Amino acid sequence: MAVSHPKISPAPSGELVEEMEAFRGFLRERGYRVTKEREAIAKSILRNRDHFDVDELFLSLRNKTPISKASIYRAIPLLIESGLLAEVYLENGHMHYERVYGREHHSHLRCLKCHSIFEFSAPELTGLEKRICRQEGFKSQGHKFEIWGICSVCQTENN
Ligand SMILES: [Zn+2]
Ligand SMILES: [Zn+2]
Repeated sequence: MAVSHPKISPAPSGELVEEMEAFRGFLRERGYRVTKEREAIAKSILRNRDHFDVDELFLSLRNKTPISKASIYRAIPLLIESGLLAEVYLENGHMHYERVYGREHHSHLRCLKCHSIFEFSAPELTGLEKRICRQEGFKSQGHKFEIWGICSVCQTENN
């Protein structure tokens, strides 16, 4: 099975301008206000290509812009609806998110021991999605595939 690993790297600043424009456009279209707070949350999220939960985001924002956790929780559904952010996985009751705008679709391997997340793409999964949808007469809007377990580094460590 061919597995490739998309790179996680910081967003180039030009791309961020495009994403912020998309977010502002979405807010205006829906009649939501474009506030400084929403923009600060969006910028901080979009600068981050990694997988994160609200606590991590709150801590990273705290030094720069004082924004409450409640505001972050309110902004996240807007970012998801606008197509810039996606829910990835649930760990200890905390949803983890990642930015998706302009990124290749990928799946995740999650280590239960060191909590690392590894990304991979496998065209076979898209083939499987298509075949199942054809059989069931289902119109897909996406799929999620996640493997959780112990990564190769953790397997070599004793205990
Ligand atoms: Zn591990
Ligand atoms: Zn990912």
